[in-house]
Formats: sequence, C-alpha cells, structure tokens
Amino acid sequence: MTKTVITGATIFDGSGEPGFVGDLLITDGQIAEVGEVPASPDAQVVDGSGLCVAPGFIDVHTHDDYAAILHPDMAFKNRGGVTTCIVGNCGFGAAPVEAARTFAEVLHPGSALPDYDGYAGYMSYLEEHPPGVNIGVLAGHGTIRAAGLNGEAGFAREPTDAELTSMMDLLTEALDAGVLGLSSGLVYEPGRHANTEELIALASVMSGTGALYASHVRDEGDHLVESIAEAIEIGRAAAVPVQISHHKATGTANWGKVRDSLALIDAARADGLQVHADQYPYTAGSTSLESVAGNYHIVEGAAVGGSTISGDNLVVASCEAEPLWEGRTMNELAEEFGCSPSEAAQRVLSTARTTTVILHVMSEEDVRTVMAHDSTIIGSDGLPTLDGKPHPRLYNTFARVLGHYSRDVGVLPLAEAIARMTGHSADAFGLADRGYLRPGYAADVVVFDAERIIDRGTFADPNRYPDGIHHVFVNGVEVVDDGQPTGSRPGQVLRRSDG
Ligand SMILES: [Zn+2]
Repeated sequence: MTKTVITGATIFDGSGEPGFVGDLLITDGQIAEVGEVPASPDAQVVDGSGLCVAPGFIDVHTHDDYAAILHPDMAFKNRGGVTTCIVGNCGFGAAPVEAARTFAEVLHPGSALPDYDGYAGYMSYLEEHPPGVNIGVLAGHGTIRAAGLNGEAGFAREPTDAELTSMMDLLTEALDAGVLGLSSGLVYEPGRHANTEELIALASVMSGTGALYASHVRDEGDHLVESIAEAIEIGRAAAVPVQISHHKATGTANWGKVRDSLALIDAARADGLQVHADQYPYTAGSTSLESVAGNYHIVEGAAVGGSTISGDNLVVASCEAEPLWEGRTMNELAEEFGCSPSEAAQRVLSTARTTTVILHVMSEEDVRTVMAHDSTIIGSDGLPTLDGKPHPRLYNTFARVLGHYSRDVGVLPLAEAIARMTGHSADAFGLADRGYLRPGYAADVVVFDAERIIDRGTFADPNRYPDGIHHVFVNGVEVVDDGQPTGSRPGQVLRRSDG
C-alpha cells in the first residue's frame, strides 16, 4: 500500500466551491481522505502549506494522439499541471490507422508510427506503452470519412448509402472500444464536404451511449453564428451532448459575435441540451498552413472580413524543412522572396507541405467574454510540434488561465477557473471518477502556488514550462516533484463510463 499525504494546503475540490485549508490522503492511486488526515508513519508527506491543491487539469482539446506515443513522458503537458488529455479533436482521430497517418504526418513529419487495429487497438497500444498523462479518446469524423469513402471518387460529395453504413460501422467500433465521442473538423479535408444530414446520421449512432459530438465548426468568422447553430442542431437531432471546439470569432469584422454565439448556447442549454465550449486563453490560433491557404485570402495590408488575413498576422510556427522560416511573418517572407504573401504561402507549402502557422486573428475582449461564460471549459488545442515554435498554448494554457486571467486580470475567481479545467470538464466528457478531489476518485492531483503560477512561454520562445507548479500526481504516482519531472508514466486510457 502506497500512501501520500499533502498537508496544510488550500484545497479546491474542482466543483467551483471556495478553497479550504486541509490535508489530502492518496492511497493506492485513489483519493482516500480530504480534510483532516491523522499522521501516518508509512505515508510520504508533501508539505502543502502556502500552496493550493486541485484536481489534475483535464485538457479537453488536444491533438496529442501520436505525441502520447512518440513523446510518452508528455512533459509539455504534465509539467503544466495537465493529468488528462482528450485526443482526437477537430475530426482528426487515431483510427483507422491508414487514414490517421496522413493527418499525423503534419504534426510528426517522417516519424514511424505503430500499427494497430481500430480505436480498440489504439487504446490497447497506449495501455501497453503508458504515457505520463491519462488519455481520453474522441473518434474523428474526418478520419472515418477518409476511410469510409472511396477516395478514387473524391471527397467533395455525399457518401453513398453503402459508404455511410461503413462510416457508421467504423464509429460503432470506436464506441464499443470506449471513445468519449465523435469530433468533426468542418474546415478540413475531407470533413468540410460533409453536410448536416451526414453529421446527424453519424451522431445518431451515439444516441443513448453518453458519447458527445464535438465540432470545429464550419466557419468561425463571417458565419460563426450559423455554424454554432448547426452544431447545436446536430446535437439536438441526434440527442447527444455538444462540445463546441475553441470558441472564438476570427477577423476584426466579426469581433463581438461571440455574444451572439453564447446566446445560442444559452438558449440550447435552457432547452435541456448539454452544450459546452472549450477555449484556449490567447488571441491567436494555430493550424496547418495548408488549411489557411485553402480557407483565407492572405493579403499584404489590413484584413477585411473573416476570410481574409494580413500577412503580418500569419506567422510560421513549425517548418521542418526550413527551420529559419519559423517565427517569421508571411509578409516578411514575401518581401524576402519578392512576391505577394499568398504566393509566399504557396512557396512555403511547396517546400514543406506540413508547415504549421500561428494566426493573430481574435480580440482580447472576446477571449474574456467567452472565458467568463459558464459554458466554457479549458482546452489547449496545442499542436505538439516540439521541435519548432509551437503556439505557447501547448505548454502554458492552464497556468495562463489561473495566473494571468484569474489572478491578474480577474476574469473569474480562482475556484471557478479551477472548476473549468477539472470538475466541469469531467462532467462534460463523462469521466466518472475524475475532475474532483473526493474519496474514491482517481488521484490526479496538482499542487501549485496561486501567487506565482504563470505562463512563461511566448510566441518568440514558446517551449518553456510554466512557473508555480510544484507537484503533479497521475493516478497517485508523482510525475512532477518540486517542479521537476520524475520520468514516471502512470497514465491510463479513460473509457466512456455511462450509457
Ligand atoms: Zn480545430
């Protein structure tokens, strides 16, 4: 029996209730007692005085499907207090493996990936090679669509009846394996060609299973409101919970529209539909350059409308073939190449199709408006391109919400900010014994200094761990001790529990 007691800390239980000073006893990977714990000679003691204890942070929006295999220590997450990553977002799932590989190539160019059979095989692989965080899995609509449609006939069409049946079979395999839901990415190939009916048909397979429909909606700019409405319509028609991915409004002309999309979410919730959105705490996004070139006009001057971006606001994040381009704007590269910024983007793509970029396209006021709303939970949407200049959200999302937005700016109280990354997140994704510090729950625990916690990664220097995180436990095993990684990899696969 292994015992750890954290003494004299301010305990936030993940519900949003204010903290209270007490002890926390961890026994054999579970939380055994919360409150006053009698001294025990066989327990490892962590002095928590002056520090806060919270449930481990749940990153509900990640693209760590293969990072969990290729970088299994997952230090870029657990050193920031994250103990669970939900993978498979934006339509990019881990199975079927042949389809998943083409997506994985963008984040991990040239890396060898293991073979496995379906979502069940992916989960078994992780159980045989555990990472340093827990993994919850979403099936990806884009991956399922790429595998289910005959690619020779192209993807810009509706599936035939037989193809739709085979897509439903792939989703059923995923649900049987224990995925938490289905994600869609309706700006990406091949998901963008799916109509609402196709998505309702697939989401309906999840009805009654407890699995949710998560969506990177069709348009986050000029048609944000209609796109949020579509996601809600799909959830309502299929009778499944809805998770709006990275809630935001892009493009100066669309700033402020999040008030309208939040009103739609409020109305759907008042109607009894479970709807949440996730958010990362920055005014810049990040994605593949290929998708930006396909969705935006890249112009030299100021952008007009949501489908235009200035080359000044588009920055290369990772580019394995030409690392010297990383950190440079498309306008700078255009000047160097002697061409327009959109031609520069094509030139970068022809050199390295897998280039990722950062887009400075959101407003600070919108970030705060969305964060303050009670439908919002926290997800980093980090792209784990560890060798480049990834968006600093990859390492720093949770510390930035707690230190910058909660403590320094006052967007929401500390207990509430913690709930948005723990209890509320576990509730939204149906994780039965996670997200709260309660007896019998899995011992995913973070010990941090509320006065000092802060993000340290910047766009120029993003690969930095946040400050103020002292200890992190995953399933009762310490993965961060006094701010330093222990190298332990106690992560588990978290399967859907209710149905
Ligand atoms: Zn997305």
